Amino acid sequence: MNASKNTHNKTKDLGKRQDEGGFLTAYKQKRDFKQTPEPQAKIKPKNGTKVFVVQKHWARNLHYDFRLQIKGVLKSWAVPKGPSLKENEKRLAVLTEDHPLDYAKFSGVIPQGQYGAGKVIIWDKGSFENVKTNSLDESFKQGRLEVKLRGRKLSGVYVLIRLKQSKNWLLFKTKKG
Ligand code: MN
Repeated sequence: MNASKNTHNKTKDLGKRQDEGGFLTAYKQKRDFKQTPEPQAKIKPKNGTKVFVVQKHWARNLHYDFRLQIKGVLKSWAVPKGPSLKENEKRLAVLTEDHPLDYAKFSGVIPQGQYGAGKVIIWDKGSFENVKTNSLDESFKQGRLEVKLRGRKLSGVYVLIRLKQSKNWLLFKTKKG
């Protein structure tokens, strides 16, 4: 048995962990997989195409979850008003815990009493590419991502900028691309 395999489950520092290493600790801690139909992490990343997904989520407050595949997980932001299709229309995007790649396929109803209870639909989905010279991971850590989305609703270059080292980011479409 490989003892080191389990060490990440024991970490107490979930806040830091959720942004590093793809361990999905926070995601797993928040959910009871006997109760929720949400996926556990099974899909492993492959080289090549990266996916994005936007889920519309009727939780306590309706919001849209914007997720980008970065370093083997879906980096995730809750966007109260949803991403805008108009250039330069800025939307607040609050960073939430990393989700497994499997989540890009999820729609359904999270039961009452569970984290994020409510209906989830896939609002848009597609592939994306990094338009910066820095890697996606570096750009994420620096708090400025620029990605070209190819979805049904969202297409073109979108920027995510972190505000002052907080969980709050701004999401908007740019004229580029
Ligand atoms: Mn949500």
